[in-house]
Amino acid sequence: MSSKMEYDVKGHLHEVLSSIPPEVKLVAISKFHPAAYIEAAYEEGQRIFGESHEQELAKKYEALPKDIEWHFIGHLQTNKVKYIAPYISMVESVDSMKLLKEIDKQGRKCGRVINVLLELHIAEEATKYGLKPDDCRRLLDDGEWRGLANVRICGLMAMASNVDDEAQIRSEFMQAAALFDEFKQKHFADDDHFRERSWGMSHDYHIAVECRSTMVRVGTSIFGPRVY
Ligand SMILES: *Cc1c(COP(=O)(O)O)cnc(C)c1O
Repeated sequence: MSSKMEYDVKGHLHEVLSSIPPEVKLVAISKFHPAAYIEAAYEEGQRIFGESHEQELAKKYEALPKDIEWHFIGHLQTNKVKYIAPYISMVESVDSMKLLKEIDKQGRKCGRVINVLLELHIAEEATKYGLKPDDCRRLLDDGEWRGLANVRICGLMAMASNVDDEAQIRSEFMQAAALFDEFKQKHFADDDHFRERSWGMSHDYHIAVECRSTMVRVGTSIFGPRVY
């Protein structure tokens, strides 16, 4: 199968892996790419993949090896949570208390504690999802999340603005890193699970790892351009 692959997934995967520090986790963003591409990366040892649509993820989950750790990275409607709750490894895109509560509820039904990240909105674009810093502060200050036994907040996810200005990207990632420190100190000082900083995509992951990212979400640089 790999010999028929028209795109060199394996070569590109190794290029990306060799350009990030070994302690930074690579989430291979496979949305809109065929299962064969995921298998190619899997054969090279990649185990963490990210998807942004529930139905596409469900198909791939069914078809592919069960030791893959699936991360959900897209906008997640509350009525879709029940479908991914039995197997999702991490929901990176939690941007409301309502969604957090639903993940907790579905986690309880499956007897699981589901790992999540809070998605920050730090980019200048108005269209992106995520919690504004003050909304994220409020959510954590409110404390209701502490009663949710079937979700585990493992850190923050952020996207920088889609711009060429490296200084702006860097300043946005540093803002996310500062928020991480603030929340860690205030709410998670005794909680070792709160340790992930998911930032960096194909065009900016080099900057992200310089801004203390622990997890980069790279699609295009591994799998090529997406065909929608
Ligand atoms: C699609 C997507 C990515 C990967 O983007 P690339 O530019 O293809 O690396 C990362 N994070 C999120 C949230 C995405 O939706």
